[in-house]
Amino acid sequence: MTSIYNLTREDLENYFLSINSKKFHADQLFDWLYVKRVKSFDDVTNIKKEVLEEIKKNYILNNIKIVNVEKDKDVNKYLFELSDGEHIEAVLMFHDYGTSICISSQVGCNMGCKFCESGRRKKVRNLEVSEMVLQILLIEEELGSRISHVVVMGIGEPFDNYDNLIKFFRIINDPKGISIGARHITVSTCGIIPKIEEFSNLDLQVNLAISLHAPNNEIRNKIMPINKVYPIDKLIPCIHEYFNKTNRRVTIEYIMLEGINDSNLCALELSKLLKGLNCYVNLIPYNETENIGFKRTKMIQIASFYDILKKNGINVTIRREFGGKITAACGQLRSREEQI
Ligand code: SF4
Repeated sequence: MTSIYNLTREDLENYFLSINSKKFHADQLFDWLYVKRVKSFDDVTNIKKEVLEEIKKNYILNNIKIVNVEKDKDVNKYLFELSDGEHIEAVLMFHDYGTSICISSQVGCNMGCKFCESGRRKKVRNLEVSEMVLQILLIEEELGSRISHVVVMGIGEPFDNYDNLIKFFRIINDPKGISIGARHITVSTCGIIPKIEEFSNLDLQVNLAISLHAPNNEIRNKIMPINKVYPIDKLIPCIHEYFNKTNRRVTIEYIMLEGINDSNLCALELSKLLKGLNCYVNLIPYNETENIGFKRTKMIQIASFYDILKKNGINVTIRREFGGKITAACGQLRSREEQI
């Protein structure tokens, strides 16, 4: 049976109509699910028992559970078990301005970025909408408070699970649901051009981040196989087009890998590549893992790279680091096969 958390409010309206019931039950049920956070359909008091019985024949509530939590100073890492026994991870970060959660969108990932622990396991399957929604609901329950920001940057390429991703956005952005403002939601892609184009036509103001990680095709081909399909010379014009359509500034993610993409020459090349694009660059100190050979760029070189971008008029920040100790940092999440 499928989870009720797979359904947007519009899907629920259609469902109630399909069982000859009332459309407004969708608003009521949404309130029970996302505001009152019921644990059983039996706790719903303003929908007739016969209708609830019908729902129970078709839907369950929860289909994932938290099986482990690791906590560090300003970060918690959650391991979830899915109904088929697969595992995914999500990371909660505590900021001055609130909390943000980095969620997974797939079990495994097919993009094969060379620096990424999460992508070492091939894609097993897409996450269902409910499996993304419930990462937020269960962490909020464990935390006892609301999460203010959501980023889809965990395990998986979100645009490779596009339809479920958009439904997920609609549910968490719904003012009658979890009601997280679209400006507080960010999705990160390794650059799947047709989906960026589709996303630019969407009526949601969700932020877009592009994992660029290289200033030219030669370097990007070596570390991100997707570049052979959607090379930089096609990707950058696509981002310009995205901005022209949406007027939304794009974040460019750039992981600093020692001796690979971190030279001053790379910084100059990147400045030229991004000239005229309304974006800001996020320089990410690499988190070394035991399975992957890349090394982290020394802080002094990251600073030099930063200065060159800055001098060339590029908006740039160096990402604050979270969760290195508990392997909860960028690119370190794993969709584990083994049980813990
Ligand atoms: S960086 Fe993202 S897209 Fe690339 S392999 Fe890792 S999870 Fe997949």
